[in-house]
Amino acid sequence: MATDEIKLSMKLLIDTKNKKVVFAEVENDFVDFLFYILTLPLSTVTKLLKDKGMNGCLPNIYESVENLNDTYMKSKHIILQPKCPVNISKAPLPLLDGIPTLTTLYKCSNSTCTAYNVTDDPGSNCPGCMFRKMSVQVVYAGPPGVKESKAATGFFVKDVVKYMVMDDLVVKPLTLSNITALKDYSTIKEIVSLHEEVVQFGKEEALKLLKSSLESKAVLTSVFMSLVKVEK
Ligand SMILES: [Zn+2]
Repeated sequence: MATDEIKLSMKLLIDTKNKKVVFAEVENDFVDFLFYILTLPLSTVTKLLKDKGMNGCLPNIYESVENLNDTYMKSKHIILQPKCPVNISKAPLPLLDGIPTLTTLYKCSNSTCTAYNVTDDPGSNCPGCMFRKMSVQVVYAGPPGVKESKAATGFFVKDVVKYMVMDDLVVKPLTLSNITALKDYSTIKEIVSLHEEVVQFGKEEALKLLKSSLESKAVLTSVFMSLVKVEK
């Protein structure tokens, strides 16, 4: 399936009086996407966001590497195109494009080597026994516990309950005690105007969420702001 076609459906609880999303009720695949963000190299995040008004100075570092020519640089691609440890195309939600993944890894060709290093460069030498090539392919099976039927069982989180994701991206299982805690929230904030809205989460929203997660504590509100109806 093309990335553009992937849309997740989630239910937002919106506080129309205070103009914010209180939380989203989501399936495990959205939680997988959120947790996947933590596996991304900073360079990958910078590359995805630098043309979208990313705050801070990381885009400057990234562009400096791009702009320095071979007179000054030994190796650019390791910095500009780092490989991610997790292959999101095998996860249920490949919403961020163009991310190279560590799929093929090599270990030392010396069977008695105790260095336990892996590399994605089969031409490199083992740091443990300097002259041996790192040329023996190892199969990377994904995070521990991940089986082939990921779509059915979840990638990082198990498909056992629904989850609630708060506006600041705190993730909790949707349990009775968490719902009770939310009732306390609504009492404290005197929410009289809660409104449910089912929304779609696709590639565009994924990038907005990634950017907002670096800048804000009200991420769901900023991603879905246009849906938050203002009470007159
Ligand atoms: Zn070795």
